[in-house]
Amino acid sequence: MRVGRIATVASAVAAMTMALSSCGLIGGNGGGGEAESVVQKAEEQGTLTIGIKFDQPGLGLREPDGSYTGFDVDVARFIAQELGVPEDGIEFVETTSQNRETFIEQGQVDLVLASYSITEERQERVSFGGPYYVAQQDILVRDGDDEIQSVEDLEGRTLCSASGSRSAFNVTETLAIDAQLREAGSYSECLELLSGGGVDAVTTDDTILAGYAAQQPGEFQLVGDKFSEERYGVGMPKGDTATCEAVNAAIAAMYEEGEAETLLDSNFGPANYEYTTELPEAEPCA
Ligand code: GLU
Repeated sequence: MRVGRIATVASAVAAMTMALSSCGLIGGNGGGGEAESVVQKAEEQGTLTIGIKFDQPGLGLREPDGSYTGFDVDVARFIAQELGVPEDGIEFVETTSQNRETFIEQGQVDLVLASYSITEERQERVSFGGPYYVAQQDILVRDGDDEIQSVEDLEGRTLCSASGSRSAFNVTETLAIDAQLREAGSYSECLELLSGGGVDAVTTDDTILAGYAAQQPGEFQLVGDKFSEERYGVGMPKGDTATCEAVNAAIAAMYEEGEAETLLDSNFGPANYEYTTELPEAEPCA
């Protein structure tokens, strides 16, 4: 059983973080009471509050029995353990695409692992460890709809994505495709719209879309046009460099020990999603 070896370096990094926070670099304490950094809270209290999605099969899902499953959930558990927090010390809280930065800033969560792409805009409000995985954006359509073969075919079509995500922006702004955008509160709402004919397509990360497609076999199909790189980071309070370093060490260990591959296989294998097993290059902690 793992013993949270990264916790042993936590004291040293906590001292560094205290210096940072006295300069006002750390925006919140992640619900950690008096703790100066998330890693310090983990070490001292043995608890962490972690934001995940509750409705994304294969990534972050609250099961009917109240348990949590998915790759983000498993990575969260691995990182927590490396930081000295046992599974029963983790409280999972639902975060949506729209509230992730706010939940971190307000200290409602210590960390976020919720298909959360590292972007410059988000880095103005929060810091990221990782990435721990690189997904790609794709499109989901109703089964048998062969009119949409690529992202260009979305021109003039109705397209759903979750507000607060960057998926829709990638299509309508970055690629300047004139799709009619319908923003929903979550991707599961988008799936209902797609199923009922309210929209022509849903766009977001292939990891998410593959999970939904597998959940309702024969209803949907992935287009397979991968058009952006989504580097999944571990969101944390801005300036919490000590936590970022500890999280990056945990992610490296997860890949080196082969645990990443095991978790990718158990979560994405059933959806026939072709995952990559390479450790993504870490972002510098800032
Ligand atoms: N990874 C993308 C993002 O962070 C889309 C998925 C999501 O909204 O969670 O915006």
